[in-house]
Amino acid sequence: MHGLMMDVPLSLPMIARRALSLYGGRSIVSRRADKSLHRTTYREMLGRAGQLARALQRLGVRPGDRVATLAWNHARHLEAYYAIPCMGAVLHTLNLRLHPDDITWIANHAEDKVVLVDKVLWPLWEKCASRVNAQHVIVMTDDGVVPPGTLEYEALIAAEAADFAWDDLPETTAAAMCYTSGTTGQPKGALYSHRSIVLHAMGEGMLCALGLSERDTVLPVVPMFHVNAWGLPYACAMFGAAQVHPGPHLDPASLLGLLQDERVTITAGVPTIWLGILQALDAAPGHYELSRLRTMVVGGSAAPEAMIRAFEERHGLHVLQAWGMTETSPLGTTAYLSPELLQKDANTQYAYRAKQGRPVPMVEVRARNEQGIVDWDGTSMGELEVRGPWVVSSYYLTEGADDRFTSDGWFRTGDIVTIDRDGYVTIQDRSKDLVKSGGEWISSVALEGALMGHPDVAEAAVVAVPHAKWDERPLAVVVPRSGQPFDEAALKTWLGERFAKWWVPDAIVQVETIPRTSAGKFLKSALREQFKAHYGSADNATRGG
Ligand code: AMP
Repeated sequence: MHGLMMDVPLSLPMIARRALSLYGGRSIVSRRADKSLHRTTYREMLGRAGQLARALQRLGVRPGDRVATLAWNHARHLEAYYAIPCMGAVLHTLNLRLHPDDITWIANHAEDKVVLVDKVLWPLWEKCASRVNAQHVIVMTDDGVVPPGTLEYEALIAAEAADFAWDDLPETTAAAMCYTSGTTGQPKGALYSHRSIVLHAMGEGMLCALGLSERDTVLPVVPMFHVNAWGLPYACAMFGAAQVHPGPHLDPASLLGLLQDERVTITAGVPTIWLGILQALDAAPGHYELSRLRTMVVGGSAAPEAMIRAFEERHGLHVLQAWGMTETSPLGTTAYLSPELLQKDANTQYAYRAKQGRPVPMVEVRARNEQGIVDWDGTSMGELEVRGPWVVSSYYLTEGADDRFTSDGWFRTGDIVTIDRDGYVTIQDRSKDLVKSGGEWISSVALEGALMGHPDVAEAAVVAVPHAKWDERPLAVVVPRSGQPFDEAALKTWLGERFAKWWVPDAIVQVETIPRTSAGKFLKSALREQFKAHYGSADNATRGG
């Protein structure tokens, strides 16, 4: 209709142009494989990204083609984040923690035409290379030496002019893709559009999310191969925040060093990373100067309340819990407190900050069980469903109807939740992790959170184990704090004071480590398998992964 607002496409070149014109001098710091630091700026990074885009065009990459990366978080990977989508191709980040067979399957399913590989990851890529039909392999390294038959990144881009045009693209063009880690069944691809990434970046900048601005320096611990490092490489450029990338070094000392020395204001990652950081801080109180760090975003698994408290009370550090999925770009909800909750006592506030939180603007939530859509009463459990402009509408190249999508346009998350009357969502479990004892659900997430609140416990996971009488009973697997073997009876009493008697696990076993998924979460399917016969014979232990 005449007189309407401009129909400006929401595409990534818009973010690149903004960063070039307004934030060209802002810094991008990366830790190299040899631990030294590399420093660049948005201007230089985007200049090189333009050269990479031209080089890929010269290699025959056409709009819509998939270009994969197998790389840690660093400035060259960031260049690929801009070059590939902005030339109309699709950035496909391969998860380097997967088995080579899975990487191979995923690269072939996506039909990746070109692959960019970190030289330090060459031994991994070699196990896939002969089985993947990529036309070119580009190796990213600092020493200029690359394996035979591959192209060297620096030489490749040096041959190109730095005059890439950063022209808008139609907003529904595919920009990036990520496969779900998929502990069951085949991995599935989520395909992000330019529009969804731009809107998501804007959403991440909102105050109820990260409240991003050019005063921030952001360190994404979350890998660039896991949901685009939660969209931070794009959101930071949109708002002008400086970026710090840890490269392959994700140990607590390396991360704490960067957080301190680069004066980081916001960092983000999964709880297992922060549990390690907390132990390091506890072991050396006051050793790190982190007064600039204003928010540690924790998502990917439930952040235990005890961890949120410990950071705040012992180290003055603020944890913000966020919930999301590969399929939701990932930002879905944040545990940002309402003004009413800010009037409440500290215990109430901690309890709310340990929830997954309320949906951010543009994301809608509801939960459904066998009876239909559940009330927002804080107690009725149901499967969380979401919709919004950065939520997938189907999986990449899957045939036929998929039961993850409802007929009225919502995505079924597989998370079992309660929603209270103010809209705060609490995850009780992944549907496959729920413990169903005597026909009643027990929340493993709630038990884990309470166990990790006990002073003798460093990490805890609770899994369902087949049981002759109750069908399933909970079993807790616990990593004790160093040098402090735990007392099983005392831990059971601790849980008995907090939960109904029948929720308390029948057994609490001690382990040295809890296996992790490729995204760094507790791999509960492995624990279920390991302990499946703990409450009886393995014959009736049929629960699968
Ligand atoms: P992924 O697609 O690998 O990022 O995994 C998404 C799943 O991680 C969700 O469906 C949840 O089960 C879980 N998850 C993500 N964030 C949280 C959170 N803050 N608390 C509990 N579980 C979470």
